[in-house]
Amino acid sequence: MASSKTFFYAKNLEDVFYQMKTISDLKIVAGCTSFIEKEFYDKVLSIRDINELKIIDKHERYLDIGAAIKLSEVAELGEANLPATIYEAIATIANPSVRNIATIGGNICSKGFYNTLFASFLALDASLEFRNGEDSSFLSITNFEKIPEGKLLSKIRLPTEEWEVSVFRRLGPTNVLNELSASFVFLVNSQKNQISDIRIAMAGSFKFRDQDLENKIIGAHLPLSQTAISNFLLEAESSFDENVSNSNLNPILKRQFWNLVKYSLEQLT
Ligand SMILES: Cc1cc2nc3c(=O)[nH]c(=O)nc-3n(C[C@H](O)[C@H](O)[C@H](O)COP(=O)(O)OP(=O)(O)OC[C@H]3O[C@@H](n4cnc5c(N)ncnc54)[C@H](O)[C@@H]3O)c2cc1C
Repeated sequence: MASSKTFFYAKNLEDVFYQMKTISDLKIVAGCTSFIEKEFYDKVLSIRDINELKIIDKHERYLDIGAAIKLSEVAELGEANLPATIYEAIATIANPSVRNIATIGGNICSKGFYNTLFASFLALDASLEFRNGEDSSFLSITNFEKIPEGKLLSKIRLPTEEWEVSVFRRLGPTNVLNELSASFVFLVNSQKNQISDIRIAMAGSFKFRDQDLENKIIGAHLPLSQTAISNFLLEAESSFDENVSNSNLNPILKRQFWNLVKYSLEQLT
């Protein structure tokens, strides 16, 4: 039997919230590019053309990016206005045609997988604003598990501080996502030849960021010695084992994590 799909339309955000409240099982979508090989929802409302969700606000220390901003529009902000890890990550996603439809909000909210931008947001300590018709609240991306019931993602708050060392690597096949896909991010700042801040994140079928691990190397003197690198790699390996509890994880990804942490630390020698 053919299944029926119903598409709802909203003029503005108020209308979106009204429909979310009054239509049962309504699902919010954006560019719909994640549904090419997936079963589509029965009742959908696209927020892709909602103007209130298409605003980019530049502040001194952060950028607020509306959830309906397309990936191509984020990239158009340019290398000078974006953290390098975000700019580089977007360039690896799909192709220009998909990036011209897919939204930044859809990239974060895709179900069952942490998409290509997730590790960069995790490393940068981005926050997510969720809204319904009554209120809005920010949640650190570190604590993001799923979209709060009855709410939608309205904006992403992205800290824009500069990083002296920034490594982004996309792993797995190009142009598609599968169980071998993941993104790795490594960021470092220093003061007086000591590491003052470091971020290490990886995401794909799992997400990894461990601030206790990062704290273990803050204050280390630069250039890093081979002993400091070897000791930290042991810590990183055990942190990965402790924090990534995905039993189906392909062991290649753990090996790639180790290799990339090693490669990144060697940039500090
Ligand atoms: C050929 C091809 C290649 C691709 N390659 C990549 C790749 O390399 N890397 C990658 O990361 N992705 C890739 N994708 C997947 C996808 O295009 C992106 O992740 C994209 O950013 C999703 O955005 P969208 O606007 O199309 O989201 P949609 O498909 O519309 O939505 C994705 C999910 O998020 C939910 N959602 C969307 N917006 C909101 C919101 N504001 N609030 C609450 N929930 C919301 C939807 O309900 C849905 O579950 C690829 C897709 C295609 C077709």
